[in-house]
Parts: sequence; C-alpha cells; structure tokens
Amino acid sequence: MAKSKPSVARSYLLVHKANAAKINKITSVLTEFQMACKTVQAQQMRVFVQDGEKFWNRRGLQPFQTRLSERYKRSVQNQVVMGLSSWLELSKTAIRSIIAKSSLPSEVKADLWWLNRSGAHYAKEATLPAWEYLPNGTRLATPERRAAPQETLDLLRAIMKHVRKHQVNVPKLWQSRTMMLDGTVAQVERSKTTEHDLWVRVSTLEKGSPVWVPLKTNRFFNEAAGELSNFAQVSILDDNSIKVRLVKKSVPAPAKTDGIDISLDWGLRSTFATDFGDQLGRSLYPWLRQIDKQLTSLTSELQRKRIPLKSNGRYQRFQQRIRDYVKNEINRIINRLLRIYDIKSITVESLDFRNGGLSRRMNRILSRAGRAAIQSKLASIAETRGVTTHKVNPAYTSQQCSGCGYTAKNNRNNLHFKCRFCGKRLNADTSGSRTIAMRRSHGHVDLYVSRQAILQRLDGEFENRWGLSFSDVKEAHCRTKERRGKTLRPTTDGLACAPSAQQTGLMDELP
Ligand SMILES: [Zn+2]
Repeated sequence: MAKSKPSVARSYLLVHKANAAKINKITSVLTEFQMACKTVQAQQMRVFVQDGEKFWNRRGLQPFQTRLSERYKRSVQNQVVMGLSSWLELSKTAIRSIIAKSSLPSEVKADLWWLNRSGAHYAKEATLPAWEYLPNGTRLATPERRAAPQETLDLLRAIMKHVRKHQVNVPKLWQSRTMMLDGTVAQVERSKTTEHDLWVRVSTLEKGSPVWVPLKTNRFFNEAAGELSNFAQVSILDDNSIKVRLVKKSVPAPAKTDGIDISLDWGLRSTFATDFGDQLGRSLYPWLRQIDKQLTSLTSELQRKRIPLKSNGRYQRFQQRIRDYVKNEINRIINRLLRIYDIKSITVESLDFRNGGLSRRMNRILSRAGRAAIQSKLASIAETRGVTTHKVNPAYTSQQCSGCGYTAKNNRNNLHFKCRFCGKRLNADTSGSRTIAMRRSHGHVDLYVSRQAILQRLDGEFENRWGLSFSDVKEAHCRTKERRGKTLRPTTDGLACAPSAQQTGLMDELP
C-alpha cells in the first residue's frame, strides 16, 4: 500500500490567557497583514491571468511597502495561495457542469474538460492528448500530444469569465480577519510547568519582541488523533479580542472495504430518509417553520425601513443561528447512523432541497447551510473513518419508481408514492432514497447531465425493460390493475419495520 502523508488537518479552538497588552500587540499586526494580503493576491492573480501560470506559494514577491518581516510575508503568501486555490477548485466544478450541459460537440467537450482540469484557464498555449475511441464508445487519452486549438482556449477563458462574474466570485482575501501563521512567526511550544498546556510565540511588528500567548488545552483537543502542527490560526474579532486555533494533522483512514451502502435523501417530514426506511431528524422542519415566521417578519420590517439585510446585525445573527442549527442537526443524525449501522459508503443525490411550506428566503438559507454542512461532514467521516461518498444526479428521484423504473409526475402525491405502472406504494421519502440507491448500484451517477437527458434515459430504460413506452403507460394507466407490492411502512416513531433498525434500537425523537 502506498504510504500516505498526514494530510487531514483539523483545527481546534483553545482558550488563551493573554492579557490586554499582549492582545493589543497581536491585533496591531492585522492591518498590515490584510494590506499585504491584498498586494500578494494581486500579484498572484496577475501571474495567473496574464501569464497563464499556476498559483504558487514559493514565488518571489515583487517588493512592496509593509512593516511585516520577510517571514510574515511568506505566511501571507501561503494564506493567499491556499485561498485562491480553493476558489479555483470551486470554479473548476462550476465550469465542468457548464461544459457538460452545453451542446458542444463531444470532442470539444473532452478538450475543454482536460484543459479545465489542468487549470489552463488563461494559458496562451497548451497541449492535449489525441483521443481514441473504443468500439463501445469509451474515450481514452492516448500518449500522443497535440496543440490545443486557439478557439477552445478562448472558449474556456470565456466560460471562466462568466463563472467569475456570476457563479464563483474571486474572494477578497484581505477582508479576512484571520491570520494563518506558520511556525516561523508563530512557534508552538509545550509548557514546562503544566503538562498539557501550550504556549504560542507570536512575532509582532517590532523586531525581536514576540508575544507569548499561554493556551489552555482541553480533553477533546488532547484526545484528538494526529500530530500537533507548528502553526497557529489567529482570528481578531470586531471587539478586538482574539481567538487562537491550533492544528493537528493525521493520516487519512483507509477506505472501508466492509459494511453496508446506505442512501440518504432529504425528506419532506424528516431531515433524512434512508433506503432502509428510517426517517431521521423530525424536529428540524417544525423548528425551521417556526423560525421562518420570525425571519419573514424581520425581513419585511427591515425592507419597510429600507435597511439592507446584509448590514443588519440582527438579520446576520438570525442566519448564523439557522446555519448552526442545521449543521448541528446534520452532524447529529449522521453520527447516529454511523453508530447504528456499519456503513461502508453513503450515497446522496447532489442535494436538492424541496421541502414545502418554507419561504423562498428560508429555502435558500437552508439549501446553502445544508449543502455546506453535509459536505463537510461527509468529508470528515471519509478522512476519519474511511466512509466513502457517492453522489447521483437528483433529477426525477422523487418521480421514478424504485421497483419498475417508471417515471411520472403523478407517481408522487405529496407524502405518498404510488407507481402508476406497477402499483408500488411507499412513503415518498423512502422511495426517493431507494431510487438513489438504485441509480448508484446501476452505476448511473450522471452528475453533470441535464434533467432532459436523464428523463430520456429513464424512459428508454423503462421501454427496454417492459416493451412499453412512457406514453403507452400514460394512456393505459387507468386500466392498469394495481398490484400491491410488499412495502415498508414507517411506524409512528419514524422507524421502518426493517429488523436491523429495530434490533439495534434505532429511535428518533418525536416532534
Ligand atoms: Zn413501479
């Protein structure tokens, strides 16, 4: 097995005991740090856009006016490159989806795909592999190379321009009030007097006069896996108090090879439904609905007074509260699932929230918060437990029958799913997660395919299987005899009759 590097980094907030004078010295670094961030970001972006080169944290900096030491400037450059790289990754994902949904010839798509992946968004020239097609249609990259056509490069650049403007804005890294300080400016040391406590020595604007910040560790931090990094994350809050986080790095857990595959869907009544029939997290939606009323009255009050929502502290705190609640709830539910089942992998649709009864604004906040929370939770359990994640395209998961594959709008009636072809009846949420499981097991991931194309494929598969087209069924369905299939019916406690769930005592709270 290949030796893996400690690549999982987790940060921990520790209580510090710095006095006001020390805090002052540290906060005075922030303005210089932010100004340097702005200059360094401009330099990195210039090289990226004008010369088509990659972001790089070892690049020699053009001289600029600053009170920061050379070592501090290196920390600035590391932070900038980290921030820009993560922006680029998000942009690549957005671009990939635009390419997939476009009507370009498949050869051009393949070229764009390759160039996007290699980060050639502003390259003046690039090489591409010559493509080879197998009889079954699979495309292979041959070792042979050719120059990328100029119009393809121009096209990629134009897509990038669109994405920067409308989808993933370039972050203003200099607005961050967090300084990621490398060991050269923030040395972490063990305390000599008390066994567990730590010191971090932070360099200041005054040469040769660092500040020693005592840190109190806690059980959670001490017991967390990984090795302590010589690195400190110092955040300066609006009231000029500081927060210090330290980082532990560990080796990622190897991917699990045993255990079950489980599929999750966002529920209408519960936060998650699994393909085993569990419905978990029933308190989230009632809570959201209640909060939604308060949110709606607050926003209409602010709009009446013409106060922009963005600058309103109350509104911002409200949003934060919702985000925190959703995150907590998602973490809690996934932790619970991991305790109950021995899970090898989790399949999710690419997160489409369709809960009714919430305002559009609330739905938007929920979607963003939910997506972010579940992504970070899944990433974290992949690293710490080796549980892998699969995503499938969410199109028509709520309308497709997990039994026979028939897809129609009238299969679903609010909380109930009843197939108009085979008569299968299920709780609508359970049906959705079973369809997700089915797509995963058939290898239909199709993440970057349009809804239209998905529907065509589903109809085609149905026709192949049953010899009937969608319209045949639609016309005849009033005459179709309904067969009652064996179905799982959730009980009042939200638990399916699946024995595995009951034996393990899976219980969810009641609303
Ligand atoms: Zn069916």
